[in-house]
Amino acid sequence: MLGEFDLIADFFAPLAANCAGALGLQDDAAILQPKAGRDLVVTKDLMVAGVHFSEDDPADLIARKLLRVNLSDLASMGADGIGYALGFAAPPEMDIDWVQLFCAGLAEDQKIFNVSLIGGDTVQTPGPLTLSLTAFGDVPAGQALKRSNAKPGDLVMVSGTIGDGVLGLDIKVGKWPELSVTHQNNLRARLQLPEPRLALGYSLRGIAHGAADISDGLVADLGHICTASHVGAVLDAVKIPLSEAAKAVAPMDANEFTSHLITGGDDYELVFTIAPEDRERVGEHSAVHGIPLTEVGQIVAGDGVKVLGADGRPIKLVQRGYRHF
Ligand code: ADP
Ligand code: MG
Repeated sequence: MLGEFDLIADFFAPLAANCAGALGLQDDAAILQPKAGRDLVVTKDLMVAGVHFSEDDPADLIARKLLRVNLSDLASMGADGIGYALGFAAPPEMDIDWVQLFCAGLAEDQKIFNVSLIGGDTVQTPGPLTLSLTAFGDVPAGQALKRSNAKPGDLVMVSGTIGDGVLGLDIKVGKWPELSVTHQNNLRARLQLPEPRLALGYSLRGIAHGAADISDGLVADLGHICTASHVGAVLDAVKIPLSEAAKAVAPMDANEFTSHLITGGDDYELVFTIAPEDRERVGEHSAVHGIPLTEVGQIVAGDGVKVLGADGRPIKLVQRGYRHF
């Protein structure tokens, strides 16, 4: 096992080499220079082995997911990524090959998303491997998307497909054996390597009223928008976009399956609300970015999220969404 300072110098510093303000990870902190006319946007996510990932998941994919779930939060705010700080709490038996692969994963995504490591902290822990990442981004001043501006009459839109994350988790424990290997692999990939919708986020500035990324499940995250905006929402189950893999599942009970997909979480798609007159504009963005955007429901006066099944009657949800406590 390497010492703390070797880890920083040999593995983490190279990831900070292209960012002058990171000072080669040789000072006590990094220096960021916020651009004039832009607001800084900051977010943090923690991932604990055994809770958010398994010890035997590939280290590069763990790293990339850690970075991507944070970039997804920036995307939901309409922000551009700048850099990130890494919290690394490793058990004593941590091996070098694992760290090397972990850093290779970060290096790959740094290139894709144009962000840099700028600092962090490295400690030993008697507990499981615990990773935290704080991402910094920016938006034109005052233009960050928030959860709090949804209005009755708004359309509820989602990007991509819903439910693949939780199905990926199911596949890991041997559920849905009827699915082809290709479908199973696609679902696993969706769980391990989510796609932060950054370009879509920027394009929604000035259009979306309420916006959030889907980490806890569509119902829960739309619920967060409703709470913050003091409104309710009605979702149409039949409109919820599903991947080919999700469509290939043959569930015992269609409503129960829908409920599973919209409360399971780990989608990292965006859910947002728009005025009906902006529907066409949003469709153009969908075409430009090559990201399917689907209208799945409406914002109404009141509170809470109601889900209507194919027969127009409310579906009973098995749970509301993922929560730790
Ligand atoms: P201090 O003890 O003063 O907090 P450290 O010795 O922990 O400082 O860190 C020295 C430098 O290395 C700092 O710039 C810090 O941001 C950086 N650093 C430490 N751990 C990490 C990490 N896991 N990832 C990136 N940078 C790190
Ligand atoms: Mg110090």
